[in-house]
Amino acid sequence: MKITILGCGGSGGVPLVGGDDGQGNWGICDPLEQKNQRTRSSIVIELNNGKRILIDSGPDIRTQLLREKIGRVDAVIYSHAHADHIAGLDELRSINRVLGKALPIYATKDTLSELKSRFAYAFKPWKTQPYFFRPVLDVHQIDYYDNFMIENQSIQTCEQIHGFCKSMGIRCGDVAYCTDVVRIPEQGLKILSNLDLFIVGCFQRNEHPAHAWIGKVLEWKKIIKPKRTILTHMGPDMDWNWLKANLPPDIEVAYDGLILYSS
Ligand SMILES: [Zn+2]
Repeated sequence: MKITILGCGGSGGVPLVGGDDGQGNWGICDPLEQKNQRTRSSIVIELNNGKRILIDSGPDIRTQLLREKIGRVDAVIYSHAHADHIAGLDELRSINRVLGKALPIYATKDTLSELKSRFAYAFKPWKTQPYFFRPVLDVHQIDYYDNFMIENQSIQTCEQIHGFCKSMGIRCGDVAYCTDVVRIPEQGLKILSNLDLFIVGCFQRNEHPAHAWIGKVLEWKKIIKPKRTILTHMGPDMDWNWLKANLPPDIEVAYDGLILYSS
């Protein structure tokens, strides 16, 4: 399968809005390094049968899909309901138009209830409108530690602690996408064994109450022993060249548009 990193930035992206000249606050990231320019975190998994699963639809989803020339997705899985992962939900009506039907989405009870309160109109039934003037969703409630199928692909989820709330880790074949997580319970770590690709949120260099940091990722890597570890959901102190120079060589650093493959 083919995995496209649509975005690998933290909740405000890199740069953050601001900066002395109004052109953005880059933190310690080098503005001249293109790989430091990060939109909000999301990935697309293209299965071997050509079907595509989107994980999260953040506020940058429209430009991300256009940039990567991805004109159709077949399902969406939501990791959790924070704005940087859901705020682009309205853009999915374009996908409705491409598919000609309601778009299947998969999320936990808590995430669905948050989505319903923010985007109530997207959950109304689709009757016979000739055209999608709003997103229309085909809702699938799932739970942590569920195993289910999307487009003939088995998906396994796990519970993640994200500071004051929970998020969901997603394993698809030998690829796992675990972002917005500071603690993975024992059961989840077992689910993450024998991975080809461990795509993991790593917001900053040092400890954080809601997000993993470099030391935490190294700890998980030691336990689950993935073939490759790729950092995503990075904030403004994660300069790409600094990371390349200072991380162990078997830790890779994502950038927007990075494409990865797993058999
Ligand atoms: Zn986030």
